[in-house]
Amino acid sequence: MKLFKESIQEIKTLLDKPANIVITTHVNPDGDAMGSSLGLYNYLKTYGHNITVIAPNDYPDNLKWLRGSSKVLLFDTNVQKADAALAAAEIIFCLDFNSLTRIDELGKKIGASKAVKFMVDHHPNPDQFADYVLSEVTASSTCELIYDLIDMLGDADSITKSIGEALFCGIMTDTGSFRFTSATAKTFEIAAALIKSGVDQSTIHENVMENFSESRLRLLGFAINEKLKVIEELSTVFITLSAEELKRYNYKDGDTEGFVNYGLSIEGIKFAVIFKESEENIRMSFRSKGDFPANEFAKAHFNGGGHKNAAGGRTEGSLDDAILHFLRVLPNYREQLKKERETEKNEA
Ligand code: 5GP
Ligand code: MN
Repeated sequence: MKLFKESIQEIKTLLDKPANIVITTHVNPDGDAMGSSLGLYNYLKTYGHNITVIAPNDYPDNLKWLRGSSKVLLFDTNVQKADAALAAAEIIFCLDFNSLTRIDELGKKIGASKAVKFMVDHHPNPDQFADYVLSEVTASSTCELIYDLIDMLGDADSITKSIGEALFCGIMTDTGSFRFTSATAKTFEIAAALIKSGVDQSTIHENVMENFSESRLRLLGFAINEKLKVIEELSTVFITLSAEELKRYNYKDGDTEGFVNYGLSIEGIKFAVIFKESEENIRMSFRSKGDFPANEFAKAHFNGGGHKNAAGGRTEGSLDDAILHFLRVLPNYREQLKKERETEKNEA
């Protein structure tokens, strides 16, 4: 394993002549996953490479405006084509995930491939499966790191609109529209550079955030009005949505993105969780404020992981079992979660 920064000349030589390249990302791809994949795709295309972007499964419609989206191969429904691209691949980029186990079957195939592997990611504790690694937990997003990569290769000044739009999309979505603590001065500098390269930031926001169905907005209303529970003494909020409830509101992938964050808008709440039932399993999203490690909670109790303030997990049992398990383990975190007493707050 080599660090990116120390191998720039080597990487330049590798990418200099046209090659068969596969770009892949994590399961249930989000804005950062698709933004980094298609930003890199549009960048590498300028060098004449033959590139296949493989997403493990489908991604939300509000990301399908990204340029190159129509060329993305979905692994779960195109296994043969994906296998052919992987067999021919001389270089594989793994973006926005830190372990091949996060991409199930596709991960096993990448693990077995002889191609030169690159990992670009911002999750903690990466597995060491790649030849070249650009892994920074302080980066707001993988898109921010793809910008760094392009910059290190000396091409920041030739970022086109299609590259810039994709990278801006991922930075915007992973920072909750530039509001999470992960959005640093550097994040804003990169965003400014992308705007200078021709990105229309307002249109990107509109494409991603104002392109949902009426039923999705009503699902949000239902989730907050009827399904949100507050556990005040543990500064926690949780929402549960059963498969039947999701169906009632014509749920589509991506519709519940961001729902979990609303819980944190209540004063004093430090931990917010959403449980979603599907045919296969129960998926959870965890969000926290301050020092409470959502990723450690997800890892310890729900086979998951992620970042300190944004993590995910899953369980195979019923929705009721998942909720009961959650309510059973949550009080173990009482010390970290309990409300600060008014006096302590005043002193702070
Ligand atoms: P989300 O709740 O938006 O699905 O995920 C939040 C963050 O947690 C993302 O950075 C995502 O990569 C990570 N994450 C989600 N699910 C899992 C999981 O099952 N395992 C690990 N290690 N990380 C996850
Ligand atoms: Mn990300």
